[in-house]
This record gives sequence, structure tokens and C-alpha cells, in this order.
Amino acid sequence: MKFSTKAIHIGSESDPNNGAVISPVYLTSTYRQKYPGKFDKYDYARGFNPNFTYLEQNLASLEGAHNAVVFPSGMGALTALILCILKSGDKVIGIDDLYGGTYRLFMRIFQNYNIGFEQFDMTNTKTLEKALSKKPKLLILESPTNPLLKITDIKKVTTLAKEYGVLTLVDNTFASPYFQKPLKLGADIVLHSTTKYISGHSDILGGVIISDHPDLMDKIPNSHMNKLEYIRNASGINPDPFACWLIQRGVKTMAVRMEKHQENAMAVANYLYKHPKVKKVYYPGLPSHENHNIARKQMTGFSGIVSVEFNLSYEETKKMITSFKVITLAESLGAIESLVDHPASMTHGAIPKEEREKIGLTDGLVRLSVGIEDPEDIIADLQQALDKIT
Ligand SMILES: *Cc1c(COP(=O)(O)O)cnc(C)c1O
Repeated sequence: MKFSTKAIHIGSESDPNNGAVISPVYLTSTYRQKYPGKFDKYDYARGFNPNFTYLEQNLASLEGAHNAVVFPSGMGALTALILCILKSGDKVIGIDDLYGGTYRLFMRIFQNYNIGFEQFDMTNTKTLEKALSKKPKLLILESPTNPLLKITDIKKVTTLAKEYGVLTLVDNTFASPYFQKPLKLGADIVLHSTTKYISGHSDILGGVIISDHPDLMDKIPNSHMNKLEYIRNASGINPDPFACWLIQRGVKTMAVRMEKHQENAMAVANYLYKHPKVKKVYYPGLPSHENHNIARKQMTGFSGIVSVEFNLSYEETKKMITSFKVITLAESLGAIESLVDHPASMTHGAIPKEEREKIGLTDGLVRLSVGIEDPEDIIADLQQALDKIT
């Protein structure tokens, strides 16, 4: 089965009682038992619910895996993973421009529990080998990264990490499983914020861990739960059944959405590339992108995020992004409507200016999550806002 057929059919059970084509939402906290302690899979909805199961079967199939465990958000998924595989004294290494929330979780929370965290440039084999030789338990990679869309050769990194016996996690949120399958490129674990492209409509939060690694997915002895499900049930990091149902509804249209996101992003990138007020366009689909060739090799498309460095001051940039009529000024990404983010004042505002500029996050940098509106309207909106700056 190919992608869209799986997205629409796997984990979609028609209702055996009434014949409803779409699976019902199981709004129940508990399940009837025939004898005390005797039940098939479902006993209490902190651990399991049919809507969790359906979405898990669905998402696992899209990444080419057998197992997935769903959570209430991307950060919830990461927290559960940490509780599942790390203990005090363990070390974690991450790519240098990791998602801000991931950085915060390690630096502000898990460092208090003696879990070490360091970031490295993983495009450089020497620095990577040095990092791996410190014997971390886990390596975390994102490709493309946020907001500069840096591409790292996933196969190269996972192959090297395997030689050192280090587990690898790829946060695949920006690419989506439609354009990139990290498990096929050697990663042990995939994480998604299903809040973004997977659900795709800016109306729900969710997260998932997809993997067939025994450290996560082996059954706990004398239990019906695997290790990660055990953490979910024990810690209460469980999603809501209706959220799972909505995410699964989003998944069914993922292929058509992703094709359109990519087509529009390419049109926007090409328009901005030629604009006199633009200094640099970051989009992995442009041949001018530094890692365009790696992107072509490991992805089947370039997704819908375009970052742009304008030749504009902090104030001019703010004026432009508040003049949009179609594009909405908001954090988040990966949904049907176009969104704009100004890293310097929003997502990355906590980083001191000097440090921020060193890593390329200048005052004129803007991240566009290109939606699936008509591309002419998105481009006209950019044009009229840019025309306001003299
Ligand atoms: C949004 C995001 C997350 C966090 O997901 P939430 O669902 O907001 O908790 C993690 N990684 C990446 C790359 C993201 O974009």
C-alpha cells in the first residue's frame, strides 16, 4: 500500500455496531470487565483508548514501523521518552539549532535530574565523533531545522552513532512522514509534534513516538503494555480521545496538503529570491541552499517552511509582518493557513542579540509557514507589505 491509501485506511475501523464508516470517538474513562481484572486491552483511558490505538496504527504505518505511542503534545512525547530511556547520570547530545522547547526541557528541567545535555554541529564529522566518544545515551537530530532549514545527512549521522552504540532520535516534524522517513535512514526513534503538518489545521495539539526499538516497545513482563505505554499510564501524559480522532482526520488529507504546501513554498521562495529587499532565502528546495543535494537525496520533497533574511531593520521588519492581510502573525507552523514568525522577537527572543546574530538569527529574519491558500494571494500579500517599506 502506498502513502495516501495507508493514511486513509490503516487504523480506520468502521463501527461494528452501527456501520458508521468513520470510527467513533470513544469518550469513556473506563471499560467494563467481565470478571475482576479480566479485560482484553482496555481497562482505563489513561493507558489505552481505541482512538489512541487507531491513530498509533495509522502513524506507525506512515513511517514504516510497527509501533507508535501517542501523547498530548510533542513536548509530552519527548518527556515520556526521556522518562522511558534515560536515568540520572546519562548524557544526551543534540544538533546545534534544536527546537527551542526541546532545549528548554533538557536545560531547565532534566538537568535538575542529572541528565547532561550538549549541542553540536552534526554536519561536521570530527565534532560529531568527539561528541559520540563521550558516550551519550541518546542523540537528537532535526532536519530541516528551525528556523534556518539546515539539512543534516541523517544516514551518515545514524550510521556513525550506531558504531558508538548511541540511540538516535529524529524529530521529523518539519518534513512530515510524507517527505522524509528517518527510520529508513537508520534512525532508531522518530518524534512528531502532530500539532503541525500531521493534523494540519492549527486546531489541536498532539505528539507521537514511532519506533520498533526494544528499549521502548518491548512488553513489560506480565503486562499488556510496552515500556513507553507503561510510562504514559504511570505518569498521566496521555492524550484526549477526541484530539486523537481529529488528528487522524487530518492525516487522511496529508498527502494532498503536503504537495500543495511544497508547491506554494517553492513559488514563495522563487518570488522572494529575486526581490531587491531580500538578502537570503533559506529553502531546501532551492538549488542555492547549501545542503540542497543532501535534501534531494534523503527527502522526496522540501515541505512548506521558507525562512527569509530581509535587508530590513528590526523596526522595518516588524512593520512589514504586521501589514500582512492574508498571512497571520503567530507562532507554530505546518497548517493550511500561512503563518509568519519573527524569530528575533518571538520564538527565539530569549536568546541574547549578540548570540542570536552569531547563529544567523538576525533582526531581518522571518520564518514563513506557507499555507495552502492560492499562491497568487500569498505572494500579493508579501508584495503589498514590502511596498509599505520605503
Ligand atoms: C512544535 C514543535 C515541537 C513541540 O511540539 P508541541 O506539540 O508544540 O509540544 C517539537 N519539535 C518541533 C520541530 C516543533 O516544531
